[in-house]
Amino acid sequence: MSDVLVLLDHTEDGALRPAALEAVTAGRGLGEVHAVWIGEAMAADVPEHLGRFGVTTLHRVRVTDADVRLTAVQGAALVAVARSAVVLGTSGFDAKEVAAHLAVATGAGVVSDATAVRRDGQGRVVADKTVLAGTWTTECAVLTAPAVVLLKAGAVVAAATGGAPAQVREHEVSAASAVRGIRVVEHTPTVPSDRPDLGSAEIVVVGGRGTDGDFTPLEELADVLGGAVGATRVATDEGWIGHEAQIGQTGVTVTPRLYIGAGVSGAVHHRGGMQASGTIVAVNPDPEAPIFEIADYGIVGDLFEVIPAVTAELRARGR
Ligand SMILES: Cc1cc2nc3c(=O)[nH]c(=O)nc-3n(C[C@H](O)[C@H](O)[C@H](O)COP(=O)(O)OP(=O)(O)OC[C@H]3O[C@@H](n4cnc5c(N)ncnc54)[C@H](O)[C@@H]3O)c2cc1C
Repeated sequence: MSDVLVLLDHTEDGALRPAALEAVTAGRGLGEVHAVWIGEAMAADVPEHLGRFGVTTLHRVRVTDADVRLTAVQGAALVAVARSAVVLGTSGFDAKEVAAHLAVATGAGVVSDATAVRRDGQGRVVADKTVLAGTWTTECAVLTAPAVVLLKAGAVVAAATGGAPAQVREHEVSAASAVRGIRVVEHTPTVPSDRPDLGSAEIVVVGGRGTDGDFTPLEELADVLGGAVGATRVATDEGWIGHEAQIGQTGVTVTPRLYIGAGVSGAVHHRGGMQASGTIVAVNPDPEAPIFEIADYGIVGDLFEVIPAVTAELRARGR
């Protein structure tokens, strides 16, 4: 096998997620990159697309006897084909579980929520990771092979190299023994949205208690910018927006290039999930709000005046 195997992040209907190409780009710095696709549906242009980003071989794994939507099944499938010294992927709920299966089966060292990965002078795989609600950046050297590193979406800029389409190798894997006693009894796909995925969006517009339940101005700004809409736990607990929109210690971790928070105080539990964002903009009438401590740009004001004015100005500039 190759030096590096990238576990591809993709939608259930077979489309690559942008973060998969970020992991591939990061992998090129560590050696020859193979990629693994676990699941049935796969868009026809995936091998060509991956080839352009430097993947030489795509391992397409089909599970013959278990439901591939279960992370234990995906873990078993990955264990069956992972022979590389380094396995990369995108941090997310499912990928973390899949990585854990690989770690248990092989003794791999796993770093999740990494923001960068490289080899040090001794050839060890080293990953950067922020900890303690984003207040510290650590360097983690993985000492047990394979090194498994899950990168935060948006932490790496995906860059094509213009290679030939990846060669596809088909694998059929049995994974029934990994899920004895588990079966899927119900499956509710999330309602498709025109907005990008919160976890991988380059721009995120976030509302908190200060919205008082009205996310309309934030949704309009997000749509003008082509961004995703996120929320604090207060807003999701109030039922103003779905729980999948919650950013923070007990929600999604985001690392967009631009985070705009309006009506958000910047509590430590929220900051843990957004502090590594590129540029942070905060709108809040309270000049003492903690979010201003980490904001690159702060506007002391009422979101219901500021946000519509920003949206109107962007529209006037042709956005
Ligand atoms: C174990 C644990 C885990 C948690 N996990 C999370 C988590 O994952 N994510 C998370 O977000 N929270 C989490 N919390 C909750 C967290 O501690 C905070 O309570 C929460 O983040 C605060 O949300 P908020 O900023 O919306 O509300 P508040 O702290 O009440 O702040 C609202 C802000 O809105 C401002 N405001 C009011 N009116 C306006 C206006 N018109 N325009 C602009 N601004 C206005 C106010 O000045 C204020 O600063 C967790 C808590 C615990 C105990």
